Amino acid sequence: MNLSSFIKRSDSAIAPYTHDAVITATPDYVARPKTVQDVQDVIQHCHHHMIPLTVCGSRTSMTGSSVTDDGILMTLEGLSGVINIDTESRTVTVRPGTILGDMQQQVESKGLYYPPSPTSRNECTVGATLATNATGDSTFKYGTTRRYVREITVLTADGTQHVIVRKGPPPNELKNSAGYFINGEEIDLFIGSEGTLGVIVEAKLALIERPDAVMTFMIPFPTNNDALHFISNYKDFSDLTPRTMEFIDKATAKIMSQSNGFPKLPENARAFVICQQEFTKGSEEDCLDSWFSALGTTLTRCKAPQLTNFITVAQSDKDQSRIAAWRHHIPSHVSEIHRTLQTQGGGKIGTDWWVPLPRMIEMMNFAYTESDKLNIPYIAFGHLGNGHPHFNYFARNAAEKSRAYSLVLDCCRMAVSLGGGVAGEHGIGKIKHDLLKIQHSPEVIQKMIALKQKWDPLWILGRGNIFTKPNT
Ligand SMILES: Cc1cc2nc3c(=O)[nH]c(=O)nc-3n(C[C@H](O)[C@H](O)[C@H](O)COP(=O)(O)OP(=O)(O)OC[C@H]3O[C@@H](n4cnc5c(N)ncnc54)[C@H](O)[C@@H]3O)c2cc1C
Repeated sequence: MNLSSFIKRSDSAIAPYTHDAVITATPDYVARPKTVQDVQDVIQHCHHHMIPLTVCGSRTSMTGSSVTDDGILMTLEGLSGVINIDTESRTVTVRPGTILGDMQQQVESKGLYYPPSPTSRNECTVGATLATNATGDSTFKYGTTRRYVREITVLTADGTQHVIVRKGPPPNELKNSAGYFINGEEIDLFIGSEGTLGVIVEAKLALIERPDAVMTFMIPFPTNNDALHFISNYKDFSDLTPRTMEFIDKATAKIMSQSNGFPKLPENARAFVICQQEFTKGSEEDCLDSWFSALGTTLTRCKAPQLTNFITVAQSDKDQSRIAAWRHHIPSHVSEIHRTLQTQGGGKIGTDWWVPLPRMIEMMNFAYTESDKLNIPYIAFGHLGNGHPHFNYFARNAAEKSRAYSLVLDCCRMAVSLGGGVAGEHGIGKIKHDLLKIQHSPEVIQKMIALKQKWDPLWILGRGNIFTKPNT
Protein backbone atom coordinates (compact mmCIF):
# COMPACT_ATOMS: atom_id res chain seq x y z
CA MET A 1 0.00 0.00 0.00
CA ASN A 2 1.49 3.30 -1.12
CA LEU A 3 0.71 5.84 1.60
CA SER A 4 2.20 8.63 -0.51
CA SER A 5 -0.95 8.65 -2.68
CA PHE A 6 -3.06 9.49 0.39
CA ILE A 7 -3.91 13.04 1.42
CA LYS A 8 -2.11 13.78 4.68
CA ARG A 9 -3.52 15.67 7.66
CA SER A 10 -1.12 18.54 6.93
CA ASP A 11 -2.16 18.90 3.23
CA SER A 12 -4.58 21.72 2.40
CA ALA A 13 -6.42 19.26 0.10
CA ILE A 14 -7.74 17.57 3.23
CA ALA A 15 -10.18 20.44 3.94
CA PRO A 16 -13.31 18.93 2.27
CA TYR A 17 -12.83 15.74 4.30
CA THR A 18 -12.86 17.42 7.70
CA HIS A 19 -16.60 17.93 8.19
CA ASP A 20 -20.01 16.46 7.52
CA ALA A 21 -23.25 18.43 7.99
CA VAL A 22 -22.83 18.62 11.78
CA ILE A 23 -19.31 18.02 13.12
CA THR A 24 -15.69 18.63 12.21
CA ALA A 25 -12.87 16.10 12.56
CA THR A 26 -9.57 15.71 10.72
CA PRO A 27 -8.28 12.23 9.84
CA ASP A 28 -4.59 11.32 9.67
CA TYR A 29 -4.97 10.37 5.99
CA VAL A 30 -7.62 10.32 3.28
CA ALA A 31 -7.61 7.38 0.85
CA ARG A 32 -9.34 7.81 -2.51
CA PRO A 33 -9.66 4.36 -4.11
CA LYS A 34 -10.84 4.03 -7.70
CA THR A 35 -11.32 0.25 -7.86
CA VAL A 36 -12.57 -2.54 -5.61
CA GLN A 37 -9.00 -3.83 -5.49
CA ASP A 38 -7.86 -0.42 -4.15
CA VAL A 39 -10.57 -0.57 -1.48
CA GLN A 40 -9.45 -4.05 -0.49
CA ASP A 41 -5.81 -2.91 -0.29
CA VAL A 42 -6.74 -0.04 2.04
CA ILE A 43 -8.84 -2.29 4.28
CA GLN A 44 -6.13 -4.95 4.48
CA HIS A 45 -3.52 -2.32 5.26
CA CYS A 46 -5.67 -0.98 8.11
CA HIS A 47 -6.42 -4.46 9.38
CA HIS A 48 -2.78 -5.47 9.34
CA HIS A 49 -1.65 -2.32 11.17
CA MET A 50 -4.80 -2.02 13.34
CA ILE A 51 -5.53 1.46 11.95
CA PRO A 52 -9.13 2.71 12.37
CA LEU A 53 -10.85 3.11 8.99
CA THR A 54 -13.93 5.25 8.38
CA VAL A 55 -15.62 5.07 5.00
CA CYS A 56 -17.50 7.99 3.48
CA GLY A 57 -19.42 9.09 0.43
CA SER A 58 -20.30 12.77 0.05
CA ARG A 59 -20.21 13.50 3.82
CA THR A 60 -23.74 14.90 4.05
CA SER A 61 -24.31 12.85 7.21
CA MET A 62 -26.33 14.56 9.94
CA THR A 63 -24.69 12.51 12.70
CA GLY A 64 -20.91 12.82 12.33
CA SER A 65 -20.76 9.27 10.95
CA SER A 66 -18.67 10.08 7.88
CA VAL A 67 -15.80 11.99 9.46
CA THR A 68 -13.14 10.98 11.96
CA ASP A 69 -10.06 12.22 13.73
CA ASP A 70 -8.91 8.67 14.33
CA GLY A 71 -6.97 6.96 11.51
CA ILE A 72 -7.84 6.85 7.81
CA LEU A 73 -10.92 8.23 6.07
CA MET A 74 -11.64 6.39 2.81
CA THR A 75 -13.89 8.20 0.36
CA LEU A 76 -15.73 6.05 -2.17
CA GLU A 77 -16.60 8.98 -4.44
CA GLY A 78 -14.12 7.64 -7.02
CA LEU A 79 -15.81 4.24 -7.18
CA SER A 80 -18.87 5.39 -9.05
CA GLY A 81 -21.10 4.62 -12.00
CA VAL A 82 -24.11 2.55 -12.96
CA ILE A 83 -22.92 -0.88 -14.10
CA ASN A 84 -26.14 -2.21 -15.57
CA ILE A 85 -29.87 -1.51 -15.74
CA ASP A 86 -31.79 -4.72 -16.40
CA THR A 87 -35.25 -3.84 -17.65
CA GLU A 88 -36.34 -7.51 -17.57
CA SER A 89 -35.61 -8.17 -13.91
CA ARG A 90 -36.14 -4.49 -13.06
CA THR A 91 -32.88 -4.05 -11.23
CA VAL A 92 -29.97 -1.65 -11.34
CA THR A 93 -26.42 -2.66 -10.43
CA VAL A 94 -24.41 0.27 -9.21
CA ARG A 95 -21.11 1.24 -7.62
CA PRO A 96 -21.30 2.83 -4.16
CA GLY A 97 -19.93 6.29 -4.98
CA THR A 98 -22.59 7.02 -7.61
CA ILE A 99 -24.65 10.11 -6.82
CA LEU A 100 -28.18 8.87 -6.12
CA GLY A 101 -29.90 11.51 -8.31
CA ASP A 102 -27.66 10.55 -11.28
CA MET A 103 -28.60 6.90 -10.90
CA GLN A 104 -32.29 7.79 -10.63
CA GLN A 105 -32.12 9.81 -13.85
CA GLN A 106 -30.53 6.95 -15.76
CA VAL A 107 -33.11 4.52 -14.40
CA GLU A 108 -35.97 6.84 -15.34
CA SER A 109 -34.67 7.18 -18.88
CA LYS A 110 -35.38 3.42 -19.20
CA GLY A 111 -38.98 3.82 -17.99
CA LEU A 112 -38.18 2.59 -14.47
CA TYR A 113 -38.11 4.24 -11.06
CA TYR A 114 -36.07 3.97 -7.85
CA PRO A 115 -38.27 5.41 -5.07
CA PRO A 116 -36.00 6.07 -2.04
CA SER A 117 -35.22 9.73 -2.51
CA PRO A 118 -33.69 11.77 0.32
CA THR A 119 -33.81 15.55 -0.04
CA SER A 120 -30.03 15.32 -0.51
CA ARG A 121 -30.45 13.01 -3.53
CA ASN A 122 -28.31 15.18 -5.81
CA GLU A 123 -25.40 15.18 -3.36
CA CYS A 124 -25.46 11.85 -1.53
CA THR A 125 -23.98 8.56 -2.73
CA VAL A 126 -25.91 5.34 -3.25
CA GLY A 127 -23.64 3.28 -0.97
CA ALA A 128 -24.27 5.68 1.90
CA THR A 129 -28.03 5.60 1.42
CA LEU A 130 -27.80 1.84 2.01
CA ALA A 131 -25.48 2.35 4.99
CA THR A 132 -28.04 4.71 6.61
CA ASN A 133 -31.24 3.07 5.32
CA ALA A 134 -32.13 6.49 3.94
CA THR A 135 -35.69 7.61 3.34
CA GLY A 136 -37.27 10.50 1.49
CA ASP A 137 -40.54 12.15 0.64
CA SER A 138 -41.89 9.19 -1.36
CA THR A 139 -41.17 6.77 1.50
CA PHE A 140 -44.73 7.65 2.47
CA LYS A 141 -45.95 5.43 -0.37
CA TYR A 142 -42.93 3.32 -1.25
CA GLY A 143 -41.03 2.55 1.96
CA THR A 144 -37.40 2.82 3.02
CA THR A 145 -34.19 1.99 1.15
CA ARG A 146 -34.11 -1.48 2.73
CA ARG A 147 -37.10 -2.61 0.67
CA TYR A 148 -35.14 -2.15 -2.58
CA VAL A 149 -31.82 -3.80 -1.76
CA ARG A 150 -31.58 -7.18 -3.53
CA GLU A 151 -27.86 -7.89 -3.31
CA ILE A 152 -24.72 -6.27 -1.98
CA THR A 153 -21.03 -6.96 -2.34
CA VAL A 154 -19.29 -6.10 0.91
CA LEU A 155 -15.68 -6.13 2.01
CA THR A 156 -15.53 -6.83 5.72
CA ALA A 157 -12.90 -5.66 8.21
CA ASP A 158 -10.14 -8.07 7.10
CA GLY A 159 -10.80 -7.35 3.41
CA THR A 160 -12.77 -10.54 2.69
CA GLN A 161 -15.36 -10.13 -0.05
CA HIS A 162 -18.94 -11.33 0.59
CA VAL A 163 -21.76 -11.33 -1.93
CA ILE A 164 -24.97 -11.25 0.10
CA VAL A 165 -28.26 -11.90 -1.68
CA ARG A 166 -31.73 -11.27 -0.27
CA LYS A 167 -33.57 -14.59 -0.11
CA GLY A 168 -37.08 -13.69 1.00
CA PRO A 169 -39.28 -10.60 0.89
CA PRO A 170 -37.83 -7.53 2.63
CA PRO A 171 -39.14 -6.73 6.10
CA ASN A 172 -42.01 -4.29 6.23
CA GLU A 173 -40.71 -1.37 8.27
CA LEU A 174 -42.11 2.14 8.56
CA LYS A 175 -38.79 3.84 9.31
CA ASN A 176 -35.67 2.62 11.09
CA SER A 177 -32.17 3.89 11.23
CA ALA A 178 -31.32 3.21 14.87
CA GLY A 179 -28.62 0.57 15.14
CA TYR A 180 -28.45 -2.85 13.50
CA PHE A 181 -31.49 -4.61 12.08
CA ILE A 182 -30.91 -7.84 13.99
CA ASN A 183 -34.09 -9.75 13.19
CA GLY A 184 -33.80 -9.93 9.43
CA GLU A 185 -31.61 -11.70 6.90
CA GLU A 186 -27.85 -11.19 6.78
CA ILE A 187 -28.27 -8.47 4.16
CA ASP A 188 -30.45 -6.48 6.59
CA LEU A 189 -27.64 -6.37 9.11
CA PHE A 190 -25.48 -4.39 6.69
CA ILE A 191 -28.26 -2.02 5.59
CA GLY A 192 -28.22 0.82 8.11
CA SER A 193 -24.95 -0.30 9.75
CA GLU A 194 -23.26 3.09 9.12
CA GLY A 195 -19.99 1.69 7.80
CA THR A 196 -19.29 -0.29 10.98
CA LEU A 197 -19.58 -3.86 9.65
CA GLY A 198 -18.26 -3.67 6.10
CA VAL A 199 -17.71 -1.51 3.04
CA ILE A 200 -20.36 -1.86 0.34
CA VAL A 201 -18.57 -1.91 -3.03
CA GLU A 202 -21.50 -2.85 -5.27
CA ALA A 203 -25.28 -3.13 -4.94
CA LYS A 204 -28.15 -4.54 -6.96
CA LEU A 205 -31.33 -2.58 -6.31
CA ALA A 206 -34.93 -3.32 -7.22
CA LEU A 207 -36.79 -0.88 -9.46
CA ILE A 208 -40.45 -0.34 -10.18
CA GLU A 209 -42.25 0.91 -13.25
CA ARG A 210 -41.89 4.67 -13.62
CA PRO A 211 -45.19 6.34 -12.73
CA ASP A 212 -46.93 7.64 -15.83
CA ALA A 213 -47.14 11.20 -14.50
CA VAL A 214 -46.92 13.10 -11.24
CA MET A 215 -48.18 16.47 -10.06
CA THR A 216 -47.11 18.40 -6.97
CA PHE A 217 -49.35 20.53 -4.77
CA MET A 218 -48.06 23.10 -2.32
CA ILE A 219 -51.01 23.84 -0.07
CA PRO A 220 -51.09 26.81 2.32
CA PHE A 221 -52.80 26.49 5.71
CA PRO A 222 -53.61 29.19 8.25
CA THR A 223 -52.04 27.31 11.19
CA ASN A 224 -49.64 24.46 11.89
CA ASN A 225 -52.49 22.49 13.43
CA ASP A 226 -54.66 22.80 10.34
CA ALA A 227 -51.83 21.45 8.18
CA LEU A 228 -51.16 18.58 10.57
CA HIS A 229 -54.84 17.64 10.73
CA PHE A 230 -55.04 17.51 6.94
CA ILE A 231 -52.08 15.10 6.86
CA SER A 232 -53.58 13.00 9.62
CA ASN A 233 -57.03 12.80 8.02
CA TYR A 234 -56.30 12.77 4.28
CA LYS A 235 -57.89 9.33 4.03
CA ASP A 236 -61.29 10.99 4.61
CA PHE A 237 -61.00 11.81 0.90
CA SER A 238 -60.89 8.44 -0.81
CA ASP A 239 -59.73 9.89 -4.17
CA LEU A 240 -56.49 11.18 -2.69
CA THR A 241 -53.63 8.70 -2.92
CA PRO A 242 -50.56 10.91 -2.41
CA ARG A 243 -47.07 9.48 -2.63
CA THR A 244 -45.63 12.23 -0.43
CA MET A 245 -46.95 14.36 2.42
CA GLU A 246 -44.38 16.86 3.62
CA PHE A 247 -45.07 19.39 6.36
CA ILE A 248 -43.60 22.90 6.54
CA ASP A 249 -44.46 24.74 9.74
CA LYS A 250 -44.92 28.47 10.21
CA ALA A 251 -41.33 29.19 11.21
CA THR A 252 -39.92 26.98 8.44
CA ALA A 253 -42.15 28.64 5.85
CA LYS A 254 -40.33 31.91 6.54
CA ILE A 255 -37.05 30.25 5.54
CA MET A 256 -38.55 28.54 2.50
CA SER A 257 -40.13 31.79 1.31
CA GLN A 258 -36.63 33.28 0.93
CA SER A 259 -35.90 30.80 -1.90
CA ASN A 260 -35.67 32.04 -5.48
CA GLY A 261 -39.03 32.36 -7.24
CA PHE A 262 -41.16 31.61 -4.15
CA PRO A 263 -44.68 32.96 -4.81
CA LYS A 264 -46.12 35.96 -2.98
CA LEU A 265 -48.83 34.61 -0.68
CA PRO A 266 -51.42 36.23 1.61
CA GLU A 267 -50.61 36.95 5.26
CA ASN A 268 -52.68 34.06 6.56
CA ALA A 269 -50.82 31.44 4.45
CA ARG A 270 -48.58 30.30 7.27
CA ALA A 271 -47.90 26.55 7.22
CA PHE A 272 -47.73 24.32 4.13
CA VAL A 273 -48.23 20.74 3.08
CA ILE A 274 -46.45 19.56 -0.06
CA CYS A 275 -48.08 16.53 -1.70
CA GLN A 276 -47.26 14.60 -4.83
CA GLN A 277 -49.95 12.64 -6.62
CA GLU A 278 -49.25 10.09 -9.34
CA PHE A 279 -51.79 9.84 -12.15
CA THR A 280 -52.28 8.34 -15.59
CA LYS A 281 -51.67 10.71 -18.49
CA GLY A 282 -55.00 11.96 -19.78
CA SER A 283 -56.62 11.97 -16.32
CA GLU A 284 -55.15 15.32 -15.21
CA GLU A 285 -58.55 16.98 -15.00
CA ASP A 286 -60.02 14.24 -12.78
CA CYS A 287 -56.96 14.37 -10.57
CA LEU A 288 -57.12 18.14 -10.20
CA ASP A 289 -60.89 18.01 -9.53
CA SER A 290 -60.43 15.46 -6.73
CA TRP A 291 -57.68 17.45 -5.06
CA PHE A 292 -59.36 20.84 -5.35
CA SER A 293 -62.64 19.47 -4.08
CA ALA A 294 -60.90 17.90 -1.05
CA LEU A 295 -58.77 20.96 -0.39
CA GLY A 296 -61.73 23.33 -0.79
CA THR A 297 -63.62 21.37 1.87
CA THR A 298 -60.56 21.23 4.13
CA LEU A 299 -59.68 24.92 3.86
CA THR A 300 -63.31 25.91 4.42
CA ARG A 301 -63.26 23.85 7.62
CA CYS A 302 -60.09 25.77 8.58
CA LYS A 303 -62.01 29.02 8.03
CA ALA A 304 -59.66 30.00 5.21
CA PRO A 305 -61.49 29.08 1.97
CA GLN A 306 -59.73 31.89 0.09
CA LEU A 307 -56.41 30.01 0.46
CA THR A 308 -57.70 27.55 -2.15
CA ASN A 309 -56.78 30.27 -4.68
CA PHE A 310 -53.17 30.19 -3.51
CA ILE A 311 -52.48 26.48 -3.89
CA THR A 312 -49.44 26.04 -6.13
CA VAL A 313 -49.88 23.17 -8.60
CA ALA A 314 -46.83 22.02 -10.54
CA GLN A 315 -47.15 19.60 -13.44
CA SER A 316 -44.08 20.13 -15.60
CA ASP A 317 -40.73 18.68 -14.49
CA LYS A 318 -39.35 22.22 -14.31
CA ASP A 319 -42.09 23.50 -12.00
CA GLN A 320 -41.91 20.41 -9.79
CA SER A 321 -38.13 20.78 -9.52
CA ARG A 322 -38.67 24.35 -8.38
CA ILE A 323 -40.83 23.20 -5.46
CA ALA A 324 -38.25 20.50 -4.66
CA ALA A 325 -35.56 23.21 -4.62
CA TRP A 326 -37.62 25.35 -2.20
CA ARG A 327 -37.98 22.28 0.03
CA HIS A 328 -34.26 21.47 -0.20
CA HIS A 329 -33.43 25.07 0.70
CA ILE A 330 -34.69 24.32 4.23
CA PRO A 331 -32.12 21.73 5.44
CA SER A 332 -29.36 23.52 3.49
CA HIS A 333 -30.18 26.79 5.22
CA VAL A 334 -30.39 25.04 8.59
CA SER A 335 -26.84 23.71 8.04
CA GLU A 336 -25.65 27.28 7.35
CA ILE A 337 -27.28 28.57 10.54
CA HIS A 338 -25.65 25.68 12.41
CA ARG A 339 -22.18 26.67 11.21
CA THR A 340 -22.72 30.29 12.26
CA LEU A 341 -24.05 29.31 15.70
CA GLN A 342 -21.11 26.94 16.22
CA THR A 343 -18.72 29.88 16.03
CA GLN A 344 -20.64 31.40 18.98
CA GLY A 345 -20.52 28.25 21.14
CA GLY A 346 -24.03 27.16 20.18
CA GLY A 347 -25.32 25.12 17.27
CA LYS A 348 -28.31 23.38 15.81
CA ILE A 349 -29.85 20.45 17.66
CA GLY A 350 -31.90 18.45 15.15
CA THR A 351 -34.33 15.60 15.70
CA ASP A 352 -34.99 12.46 13.70
CA TRP A 353 -37.61 10.74 15.89
CA TRP A 354 -40.79 9.40 14.29
CA VAL A 355 -44.14 7.91 15.30
CA PRO A 356 -46.79 5.94 13.38
CA LEU A 357 -49.21 8.32 11.64
CA PRO A 358 -52.19 7.59 13.98
CA ARG A 359 -50.09 8.92 16.92
CA MET A 360 -48.68 11.90 15.02
CA ILE A 361 -51.04 14.64 16.31
CA GLU A 362 -50.54 13.58 19.93
CA MET A 363 -46.76 13.54 19.49
CA MET A 364 -46.65 16.88 17.68
CA ASN A 365 -48.79 18.53 20.37
CA PHE A 366 -46.33 17.35 23.00
CA ALA A 367 -43.29 18.43 20.97
CA TYR A 368 -44.68 21.90 20.17
CA THR A 369 -45.88 22.56 23.73
CA GLU A 370 -42.53 21.61 25.23
CA SER A 371 -40.50 23.34 22.50
CA ASP A 372 -42.35 26.63 23.09
CA LYS A 373 -41.36 26.48 26.76
CA LEU A 374 -37.64 26.41 25.87
CA ASN A 375 -37.55 29.97 24.60
CA ILE A 376 -35.02 28.94 21.95
CA PRO A 377 -35.73 29.65 18.26
CA TYR A 378 -36.78 26.49 16.43
CA ILE A 379 -38.47 25.20 13.32
CA ALA A 380 -40.19 21.91 12.42
CA PHE A 381 -40.65 20.37 9.00
CA GLY A 382 -40.40 17.05 7.23
CA HIS A 383 -41.99 13.76 6.42
CA LEU A 384 -45.14 14.07 8.54
CA GLY A 385 -47.02 11.57 6.39
CA ASN A 386 -44.69 9.10 8.09
CA GLY A 387 -45.02 10.88 11.46
CA HIS A 388 -41.42 11.99 11.00
CA PRO A 389 -40.68 15.69 11.50
CA HIS A 390 -37.28 17.30 11.95
CA PHE A 391 -37.40 19.79 14.82
CA ASN A 392 -34.32 22.00 14.69
CA TYR A 393 -33.44 24.08 17.74
CA PHE A 394 -31.06 26.98 17.11
CA ALA A 395 -29.15 27.12 20.38
CA ARG A 396 -27.17 30.32 20.82
CA ASN A 397 -24.85 29.01 23.51
CA ALA A 398 -23.86 25.85 25.37
CA ALA A 399 -26.59 26.22 28.01
CA GLU A 400 -29.30 26.43 25.34
CA LYS A 401 -27.79 23.43 23.58
CA SER A 402 -28.04 21.41 26.73
CA ARG A 403 -31.69 22.40 27.36
CA ALA A 404 -32.65 21.62 23.76
CA TYR A 405 -30.88 18.27 23.92
CA SER A 406 -32.72 17.40 27.09
CA LEU A 407 -36.04 18.01 25.32
CA VAL A 408 -34.89 15.90 22.36
CA LEU A 409 -34.34 13.01 24.78
CA ASP A 410 -37.84 13.51 26.23
CA CYS A 411 -39.36 13.55 22.75
CA CYS A 412 -37.48 10.37 21.84
CA ARG A 413 -38.82 8.63 24.97
CA MET A 414 -42.33 9.71 24.06
CA ALA A 415 -41.90 8.65 20.40
CA VAL A 416 -40.74 5.18 21.46
CA SER A 417 -43.64 4.88 23.92
CA LEU A 418 -46.02 5.65 21.03
CA GLY A 419 -44.60 2.86 18.87
CA GLY A 420 -42.09 4.96 16.92
CA GLY A 421 -38.34 5.36 17.07
CA VAL A 422 -35.47 7.72 17.80
CA ALA A 423 -33.89 7.80 14.33
CA GLY A 424 -35.98 7.58 11.17
CA GLU A 425 -33.28 8.13 8.57
CA HIS A 426 -30.11 9.88 9.73
CA GLY A 427 -28.70 7.05 11.83
CA ILE A 428 -26.97 7.24 15.21
CA GLY A 429 -23.46 8.19 14.12
CA LYS A 430 -21.18 9.69 16.71
CA ILE A 431 -23.57 12.15 18.31
CA LYS A 432 -26.69 10.12 19.12
CA HIS A 433 -25.47 7.20 21.23
CA ASP A 434 -27.80 8.22 24.09
CA LEU A 435 -30.76 7.85 21.76
CA LEU A 436 -29.93 4.25 20.91
CA LYS A 437 -30.36 3.42 24.61
CA ILE A 438 -33.84 4.94 24.58
CA GLN A 439 -34.96 2.77 21.70
CA HIS A 440 -33.27 -0.53 22.57
CA SER A 441 -32.88 -2.50 25.80
CA PRO A 442 -29.36 -3.25 27.12
CA GLU A 443 -29.84 -6.86 25.94
CA VAL A 444 -30.58 -5.78 22.37
CA ILE A 445 -27.64 -3.37 22.34
CA GLN A 446 -25.47 -6.18 23.67
CA LYS A 447 -26.57 -8.36 20.74
CA MET A 448 -25.61 -5.57 18.34
CA ILE A 449 -22.21 -5.22 19.97
CA ALA A 450 -21.70 -9.00 19.72
CA LEU A 451 -22.40 -8.78 15.97
CA LYS A 452 -19.92 -5.93 15.63
CA GLN A 453 -17.40 -8.06 17.51
CA LYS A 454 -18.08 -10.99 15.18
CA TRP A 455 -17.67 -9.07 11.91
CA ASP A 456 -14.98 -6.65 13.04
CA PRO A 457 -13.16 -8.10 16.08
CA LEU A 458 -10.53 -5.34 16.03
CA TRP A 459 -13.15 -2.56 15.83
CA ILE A 460 -11.39 -1.10 12.80
CA LEU A 461 -14.42 0.08 10.81
CA GLY A 462 -16.45 3.23 11.48
CA ARG A 463 -15.01 3.59 14.96
CA GLY A 464 -17.32 5.67 17.18
CA ASN A 465 -20.36 5.17 14.95
CA ILE A 466 -23.48 3.73 16.68
CA PHE A 467 -21.58 2.71 19.84
CA THR A 468 -18.11 2.94 21.32
CA LYS A 469 -15.97 -0.09 21.85
CA PRO A 470 -16.78 -1.49 25.32
CA ASN A 471 -14.13 -0.67 27.97
CA THR A 472 -12.41 2.02 25.93
C1 LIG B 1 -29.42 19.12 3.26
C2 LIG B 1 -29.53 17.67 3.68
C3 LIG B 1 -30.73 16.99 3.48
C4 LIG B 1 -30.84 15.64 3.85
N1 LIG B 1 -32.01 14.98 3.62
C5 LIG B 1 -32.11 13.66 3.94
C6 LIG B 1 -33.34 12.94 3.69
O1 LIG B 1 -34.32 13.49 3.19
N2 LIG B 1 -33.37 11.62 4.01
C7 LIG B 1 -32.28 10.97 4.53
O2 LIG B 1 -32.37 9.76 4.76
N3 LIG B 1 -31.13 11.63 4.80
C8 LIG B 1 -31.01 12.94 4.51
N4 LIG B 1 -29.84 13.61 4.77
C9 LIG B 1 -28.70 12.88 5.37
C10 LIG B 1 -27.70 12.29 4.34
O3 LIG B 1 -27.76 12.99 3.13
C11 LIG B 1 -27.96 10.82 4.10
O4 LIG B 1 -27.66 10.10 5.28
C12 LIG B 1 -27.13 10.22 2.95
O5 LIG B 1 -27.49 8.87 2.80
C13 LIG B 1 -25.64 10.32 3.18
O6 LIG B 1 -24.97 10.22 1.94
P1 LIG B 1 -23.43 10.60 1.79
O7 LIG B 1 -22.94 10.09 0.49
O8 LIG B 1 -23.22 12.03 2.06
O9 LIG B 1 -22.81 9.72 2.96
P2 LIG B 1 -21.76 10.06 4.08
O10 LIG B 1 -22.26 11.18 4.92
O11 LIG B 1 -20.42 10.23 3.50
O12 LIG B 1 -21.81 8.70 4.93
C14 LIG B 1 -22.94 8.37 5.68
C15 LIG B 1 -22.72 7.02 6.37
O13 LIG B 1 -22.63 5.99 5.40
C16 LIG B 1 -21.43 5.23 5.58
N5 LIG B 1 -21.01 4.82 4.24
C17 LIG B 1 -20.84 5.61 3.16
N6 LIG B 1 -20.55 4.87 2.09
C18 LIG B 1 -20.52 3.58 2.50
C19 LIG B 1 -20.26 2.34 1.85
N7 LIG B 1 -20.03 2.27 0.54
N8 LIG B 1 -20.27 1.21 2.59
C20 LIG B 1 -20.54 1.24 3.92
N9 LIG B 1 -20.81 2.39 4.57
C21 LIG B 1 -20.80 3.54 3.87
C22 LIG B 1 -20.47 6.19 6.27
O14 LIG B 1 -19.47 5.49 6.99
C23 LIG B 1 -21.43 6.92 7.18
O15 LIG B 1 -21.67 6.12 8.31
C24 LIG B 1 -29.72 14.97 4.44
C25 LIG B 1 -28.53 15.67 4.64
C26 LIG B 1 -28.43 17.00 4.27
C27 LIG B 1 -27.13 17.71 4.51
